[in-house]
Amino acid sequence: MKQSAFLFAIVLASCSQGPVHYTDFAIGTTVNLTLYDQDRPDLWKEILVDLKWLDDTMTIWEREEPSTLMRANSAAGDPLGYPIGPELAEVIRLGLEISRESQGALDISVGPLVKAWGVATENPRVPNKEEVSRALALVGWDRVRLESGRLYLDRPGMMLDLGAVAKGWMADRIVEKLRARGVERAIVDLGGNIALLGSKPDGSPWKVGIQDPFQTRGRYLGILETGPTSLVTSGIYERFFEQDGIRYHHILDPKGGFPVINELAGVTIVHPNSGLADALSTAVFVLGGKAGWELAQRYRAEIILINRDHTVWVSPALRDGFQLVAGEYSLQENLP
Ligand code: ADP
Ligand code: MG
Repeated sequence: MKQSAFLFAIVLASCSQGPVHYTDFAIGTTVNLTLYDQDRPDLWKEILVDLKWLDDTMTIWEREEPSTLMRANSAAGDPLGYPIGPELAEVIRLGLEISRESQGALDISVGPLVKAWGVATENPRVPNKEEVSRALALVGWDRVRLESGRLYLDRPGMMLDLGAVAKGWMADRIVEKLRARGVERAIVDLGGNIALLGSKPDGSPWKVGIQDPFQTRGRYLGILETGPTSLVTSGIYERFFEQDGIRYHHILDPKGGFPVINELAGVTIVHPNSGLADALSTAVFVLGGKAGWELAQRYRAEIILINRDHTVWVSPALRDGFQLVAGEYSLQENLP
């Protein structure tokens, strides 16, 4: 009798513990994991190893040992191509699909341009006209080929950059892993790229903060109530620098060669496939609201558009669950 009361007390204590949070710095950003049904430091460790693997495979940021993608990029122009693994091939395939479907608004061959601007380096800078046109001449997703496990880049100097796609793809892999290990409720947050698993213990919907693109990360303009899905944001807040009083952000127009300037300050894509949501968020940001929403609909993605004039447009299926929390914003009924 005594013993069962004791056991009961332990069960109660572990239930009332609430969610467990893990956080670290990886893949160039802050990553978080929240588990609701169990404490699994072993899983968190594994995830950090997976994130390191992601960097070793797909980054093009300067580092001591080149990643697999950097090696493949170095082989650009080689008619024999370069052998790559199935995971890298999968991310490239997804990137190429959305590059094609967005007619090059997303363009995963944007690498030379990203380098010219020094995105994600310590010294980002505005390149001169010649540098921009030299880089632009090397950008073109339609000159990228993937065949029998080999990557072919048409011309020397071409360079893939998976920065707009890889994080979301990885979030999907992490959710799969958690599920396979018996986790039923979790939030995976890779630098604002959020994937939700299951529902909250009390069955109520998740409440996810929508980034205010004029503020630093973690400042929200609204809250979205949602079931298990993924939310990915692209915006002007993430990485930027100032030169001569002008602010330049990190999403580049692959046709003009400059940071995108349109009516948008930020885009959030909601779709159960986080890799797809990531690719779409960048594509929609480049396309602008109207063409962006058309593209999103083709993939049954829901979206939140945040305009520079502080109006917010929320796609119909999300409206009931969305609530503004920042006073300077207002909802807009129709797309302009
Ligand atoms: P975040 O950096 O917040 O994940 P995105 O998913 O929008 O934001 O990805 C932006 C990154 O993608 C940039 O840092 C750059 O490396 C790359 N990039 C910039 N512009 C484009 C583009 N038009 N198409 C594909 N990749 C891009
Ligand atoms: Mg993206």
